[in-house]
Parts: sequence; C-alpha cells; structure tokens
Amino acid sequence: MSGRPLALHGQGVGRGAAFGPVVRSHPAPSAPDAATPAASIQDPEKAAESVEAAYAAVAQRLTAQAASAAGTTLGDVLSAAAAMAADPELIADAVARVRQGAHPSIAVDAATQEYVELFSAAGGYLAERVTDLRSVRDRVIAELMGLPEPGVPTFEAPSILIAVDLSPADTATLDMEKVLAIVLEEGGVTGHTAIIAGQLGIPCVVRVDGVSSLQPGDMVAVDAAEGTVVRDPDEATRAEVAARREMLATLAGNVDPGRTADGHRVELLANIGTADDAERLAKREVEGVGLFRTEVLFLGRQTAPDQVEQADVYERVLRARGGQKVVVRTLDAGADKPLAFVRRATEENPALGVRGYRLTRTMPELLAEQLDALADAQSRTGIAVWAMAPMIATAHEAAEFAIHARSRGLERAGVMIEVPAAALRVDEILAAVDFVSIGTNDLAQYTMAADRLVGDLSDLLDAWQPAVLDLVAMVLRAAEAHGKPAGVCGESAADPLMALVLTGLGATSLSMSPAAIPAARFALAAHSRARCQQIAAAALDAATATEARAAAVALCDPEVALALSLG
Ligand code: PEP
Ligand code: MG
Repeated sequence: MSGRPLALHGQGVGRGAAFGPVVRSHPAPSAPDAATPAASIQDPEKAAESVEAAYAAVAQRLTAQAASAAGTTLGDVLSAAAAMAADPELIADAVARVRQGAHPSIAVDAATQEYVELFSAAGGYLAERVTDLRSVRDRVIAELMGLPEPGVPTFEAPSILIAVDLSPADTATLDMEKVLAIVLEEGGVTGHTAIIAGQLGIPCVVRVDGVSSLQPGDMVAVDAAEGTVVRDPDEATRAEVAARREMLATLAGNVDPGRTADGHRVELLANIGTADDAERLAKREVEGVGLFRTEVLFLGRQTAPDQVEQADVYERVLRARGGQKVVVRTLDAGADKPLAFVRRATEENPALGVRGYRLTRTMPELLAEQLDALADAQSRTGIAVWAMAPMIATAHEAAEFAIHARSRGLERAGVMIEVPAAALRVDEILAAVDFVSIGTNDLAQYTMAADRLVGDLSDLLDAWQPAVLDLVAMVLRAAEAHGKPAGVCGESAADPLMALVLTGLGATSLSMSPAAIPAARFALAAHSRARCQQIAAAALDAATATEARAAAVALCDPEVALALSLG
C-alpha cells in the first residue's frame, strides 16, 4: 500500500466496477541483439552456471505454480512448461553455446529457436508446444536479466490485473474466476483483450496513463462506466463501487426477453468465443448467440483444428443453447488476429489485406472445412445454424458465401457488414443473403480510416461518429425494407444508449458481451419504440460524435441515464 490516493483515467469497457488488490503482468524481456558480442562475459564457465541456475529457478517456480493450479487447464499448461524448463537437452544446448562464448540471453534465445523449429516441423502435439517453449525462454531470460517474471501471474486471491497490454493468448490463460478487473496502459476498447474481458463481464479500463505507479498489493477501485482507477479510494468511492455491483446484480436478475416499453421485440444476444462461453451462458438468461467468434478455436495453434474437432465444438455450442438462435461466424483471421498456419505474404497494411472472408482467395479449404463442420453439427443436433461470413466487401462475395453455405444445407446464410463498401451496396447484399449483422468495430475502423489497435485514435473509432451512424442507419433501414433480420454485434451494441439508437433505426437484434445485456434490457424497457426513433433521429442530426451522444442522453429517461452513468 502506498498510502497516497491517486486517480487515473482511461476508457472503460462495460459498466462494471470492482475493488481489490493489484497484481501486475510484466512484458517479455527483449534479449540483447543476436549480433552483440558477449564482451561483458569474462568467465564463460560462470555464465554457463548462471544459465543452468536460471532454468532451475524457472522450473521450480513453474512446478509450484502448476501445483497450486492442479486439476485446471492452467495447471496442465504450467506443468508442461515446467517440464520444458527442466529439459536436460534444451539446457545443455544453451549451456554449450555459452561455453562457446555466446551471451547467456542470446544462447537461451538461440537454443529455444532451434527447438521451436524442430517442434514446428514435427507438427501436431509438438507444434502446439511452441508457445510454451517461448514462454519458458522469456522467463529464463528475465531471470538472467534480474527482471520480474514475465507474463500473467497466477492469482493467489481475487485481484485486479494491471498490465501494459495483454495478448489475446495471455487473456485466454487467465483464471477469470479470480480476475476482478483488468486495467491496461495500452490496448483499445475494441481490441480483442477488452472484448474477451467484456464477454466475461470483467470490468476493464484501457488507455490508462500512469499505471506503472500501481504496485502489487495496492488497493484500487476500478469503475468501467466512468473509466477511472483510484488507488486507496475513500469510503465514498468504495461505497459507489459496491452500489454499482449491487445495481448490476439486480438488473441481471431480470430475464425478460428484450423489448421496448411498448413491447417492440429486439433480441438480446450474446457474443461468445468458445464452447465454454456458451455453456456458462446457460446459467444466465440470453436469447441466443449473435456472434460466435470461431477464430478463438484457431488462435495459438500451429495447425487448423480438423473437421471432427470443429464439429464437436459447434455441437457443444448448439446443444448448450438448446435450440436458440446461434450465429456462427466463419474464421476471421488476419490483421490483429494472426494465425500461425495461415500462409500470407508480408503485408504493409494487414487490416486492409487478406483477412476474414478474403482468406478464401489463398486458402479456400479453411472455409470449406469449417462449413462442412457446421453442417455436421447441424445434422448431429437437428438445430439450424446461422452461418455468417466476416469482412465481406462486395455483393459478389456475399452471394458466393451464401452458395457455399446453402450447398451444405446451411439454410441461414448471412454476412457481416463491417466494410463501408458493403454498407453502401447493402441492397444487393440483402438480396443474396438471409440476414446481416453490423460489426461496428470494423465499420468504424474502415469508415474513419483509423486502426482499431491505435488507442490514441479512439475518438475516431467511435460508432457515434456521424459518418458511421449514417452507414449503420442505411443498413438497418434497407434490411427493414427487405424484411430481413439485421443485427448489430460490434461493441457499440453494449452501450445501452447506443442500443436505444440502434433499436430506433430498426435493429432486430443486438449482440454483445453477455455481461452488458442486463443494462441494455433495462434501457430498452424504459423507452417506447417511438422514443427510440426520436433518440436515433437526434443522434443522426448531430454534427459530431460528442454531440450525437449528448443529443441521445437529452432524450433518454433521466432515471435510466443516472442509474447507468450514461451522462
Ligand atoms: C466488429 O468488427 O464489430 C465485429 C463484431 O467483429 P470483430 O470485433 O471480431 O472484428
Ligand atoms: Mg470485425
């Protein structure tokens, strides 16, 4: 505890709040440049001993961490890593290099690299272990350099995780039961770590300046609705956190279907990334899945999961939802979601490159196999799958996807509208598919020409931007005219105020992090459809994103605005 109150500000994801002790995750150290001569190494024998000692220390720590997480997936990952850190051949390789005069960190890096290549070439199970090899290397190098252990720490008790940034892989290994909140110095509100946190209902604040001043053990209050992180909060702030948690818990108790005050239905659906997510949701009341980001199943792997493995996962998701609508998005890899097995040329601008549906140009077998797996899951369960393609830019691509899907018996074929070109030609797209879903994260990125990974551009990456709202309105109105379902599944749907605008514009479903659903349900139930239409019209009339939001707040029920901190 520092004893000094300190208030930091960033951008909140979700409406949650939390209070608890800080744990920190540290980035991987960079090894000295391989070309650097080991000039400072006077005594190679002593340096060799330091390498052996570093491996031993890392192996010991990993073994202890594995023991405390025994019986969990994390425990398995940690024991595999512990075994690698104790591998005599790997250690002997690094030590031999040091004896030949290499700098210890460079020797560890080079020895690891040799194994990475061997494992990758072997494929299968061994190739899957490459990530563990690299994590052991990072830990050993940090040990040699006297730096804190890199990566996400194991949590002794429920805590607030502070990091510069987290990779999606780091986030995936977190024991979410113990993560009270996530605070990142970098990242962005539509980055994938923020999305995963949102999915799990974990309050998250990103782009927070000054997080380096927060130390393990400091007590902090995190408020995602306000975007604040307060160290050593006073009684009043702690009481606010408790009240917010209580209010959200009360809202979560309402499990009515989504509808406006006058009964106009809007499906409230969940965004998920894994079959576990779908199963966890069984306990909460949602009306289905509006976006299953299947790339999570492919991330961090050296080879694509085969048809049977995929079908098993899709079957689990369909069964978990018991016949509810489940929209499965086909693989959206590339750009900020790179996959090891996706061959790609070096791209100057990956976000504008071969990603999403465009992968069918270079690896058509990936989509074919995934659609086959979806068809298998559909026939195993007898539950119709809603298949959806990401990153569609032309009506031709949309029609081609629909043909691929329907030829396998997937009768509900839809596409994401997340490229401005698709929004502008949505009429032709709607003629070719059964439904559309607007991805406002990418639609904002591509409309405003603002990389979604560049948090400094968050004012442009905002679905309230007039140009983005215009495109959203164009799509929703066109879908209404075609009588086809049109949802919104970007993060903006999780903003209860935006949910009112989208409803006013004609969205038939809103899909979001499950934790955001109660607030959206509450906001919708307090406004008539006509009021949502007025709110939407006012937002569309505004000249700037800030004015659009303010215009919406001005027409929103004051009690809802206060309860959800919308103002
Ligand atoms: C989007 O772009 O809004 C979207 C929902 O897809 P993702 O965030 O997975 O790119
Ligand atoms: Mg997208």
